Amino acid sequence: ADGCVRMPLCRLCLLSSVLLSSKNELVSSKPARMNGWSWPPQIFQVIGWLMFCYLAIVSFGIYIPLLPLPWNYVLYSLTGITFTVHFLTHIAAVTIDPADASVRAKQSYSRPMPLFDRTKQQHVIQDLHCYLCDVKVGPKVKHCGVCNKCVEDFDHHCKWLNTCVGGRNYWYFFVALSSATLGVLLLVVVLLFVSIQHYLDPNSLRTAPQYEICFSTGLLGNGTWLVFLPLTPIKTSSSGLLILAFITVMLSITCLLLLCHLLGFHFYLFYKGISTFDYVKMQRQKETRRRDIEPGNANPVKNNKKVRQVRYVISGSLMLMKRLSGRV
Ligand SMILES: [Zn+2]
Ligand SMILES: [Zn+2]
Repeated sequence: ADGCVRMPLCRLCLLSSVLLSSKNELVSSKPARMNGWSWPPQIFQVIGWLMFCYLAIVSFGIYIPLLPLPWNYVLYSLTGITFTVHFLTHIAAVTIDPADASVRAKQSYSRPMPLFDRTKQQHVIQDLHCYLCDVKVGPKVKHCGVCNKCVEDFDHHCKWLNTCVGGRNYWYFFVALSSATLGVLLLVVVLLFVSIQHYLDPNSLRTAPQYEICFSTGLLGNGTWLVFLPLTPIKTSSSGLLILAFITVMLSITCLLLLCHLLGFHFYLFYKGISTFDYVKMQRQKETRRRDIEPGNANPVKNNKKVRQVRYVISGSLMLMKRLSGRV
């Protein structure tokens, strides 16, 4: 059952596939997706890139230039390296095709794929042969229903990257995840420092030479700040600076919670020596065993996909918290 995949089929598709398969024919379905840039894009993917651009503009354009010497140079370098590493590994993780070697060798990305026919076969992969890709595969391969291809050392299908994470792009995914966490953490520190220092000692944040010029010519009051230093100084008020800092801290903390949760989960997987897919399979087996122990518990809500996903996230978080607090 390792290669089993739940194909998203509507009743009409199911009915037509049953009808057509009775004539020994297969219905064509969407072609396989090559990588994360393949059509269609995912909303999460767009949000991720917009967030990256927003945080880069706000940190390098507004808040890091306000830091006193030599901290502005320290933070320019640290945040610069972190953001660049994230950018490059994110691009690599999206671009690398995680498909199994046999699928890549076939180069069949433009060809329509056959539709999975449950009346003929129970699982997409049986006896290490994928029925849809029509290739021999290894034991750690799974056919992803979204990418519609077999993925080598399958870990999970990532909506943020809009591609599968497998053996070929796992490390890029992991470095992108770690650098994103570190980058957002650095930004939160900078934002909190600037917000606090704005009250305690505002002049310590006005060490850039542009301030001196403006002060000497009387162009700048005490409540005025310059953003987008040093190239294009634009005046803004104290409240403008603080409101933007507040919004950015809130967004960053939300990102940080999600990133830390995911990063912690992958550290837990390292510790256990398993993949995300192994973890999901183990959870499913546990669920099945529990359902077998409690007969007559045929609650239809339990079989709902959304409920299962929520349960998966909650059980993952609980296990992680137990692990972190040393209770397991
Ligand atoms: Zn396949
Ligand atoms: Zn996938």
